[in-house]
Amino acid sequence: MRFSNIVSVTAVLASLASAVPTHRCGDQGACPKAHNVDNCYNPKQIALTFDDGPAGFEKDIMEALGDKKATFFLNGCNSQCIYDEENVKQIRALHAKGHTLGSHGWTHANFSTLSYDQTHQEFEKMEQAFWKILGLKPLYFRAPYGETGDNLMRVLAERGYKKNFLWSDNVGDADLCGVEYGKSVYENIAKTFPAPHMVLNHATYETTAKEILPYAICELEDAGYEIVAVDTCLGEYLIHAARTDVHRSHVVFLLVRLIGSQGEWPYDEHVVGEPQERDETWVC
Ligand SMILES: [Zn+2]
Repeated sequence: MRFSNIVSVTAVLASLASAVPTHRCGDQGACPKAHNVDNCYNPKQIALTFDDGPAGFEKDIMEALGDKKATFFLNGCNSQCIYDEENVKQIRALHAKGHTLGSHGWTHANFSTLSYDQTHQEFEKMEQAFWKILGLKPLYFRAPYGETGDNLMRVLAERGYKKNFLWSDNVGDADLCGVEYGKSVYENIAKTFPAPHMVLNHATYETTAKEILPYAICELEDAGYEIVAVDTCLGEYLIHAARTDVHRSHVVFLLVRLIGSQGEWPYDEHVVGEPQERDETWVC
């Protein structure tokens, strides 16, 4: 980080205890586009993703995962309020365990139907929650229902988001397809090894956490897969994206190539603070 950036971030932190420090790409001119990503790139890796939490089953999902990493796309006010004490505890535990956390919007809205201002509001509230709970600003997003649109892509770019993640496979839990169907999705994935996958699960179903996931982990590891977070499985994709994105500088390309195999940082490196104490603003 350049010295001037450190000074400006520190000044902002001192003056705004609870607000997210503003760092928008528009301040420096044109905004790089966010990429839509629907799969991993490394054929021996698989990314398991869990949407719609916090929902009360994060602890069970963490237990099943052990030391393997996954990705959680969080809502602010969906099945539960993100600021509930137990949810704050679980979100901090997920982060401490090294899982990747991204935004899924504040209300789980269909972003293809929202105005430009409504879209910014959804992001603003989630960024406030990430800032208060973790002292971070997410740069990964997943559009609810996989629905995108011009307003969403514009706001993603303006707020500096790197990627909108979709998926390659869906266990069908949100469609109430049942445990046997969910297990069969993973059985079929295991047969494709080595081929990359990015799998949609939901953190809102006990059967996903306690029945489908433990079964899936055995199947996938027996097949030879490494279970990783979405930022890890994009190594070659990152290099490809850096080569084809005219907004990226040569320096960024070299940096991406160096870190590519280990993944990228899914949060804004200019906006890093300490988790905060609960106050009257922690409400949904
Ligand atoms: Zn969702």
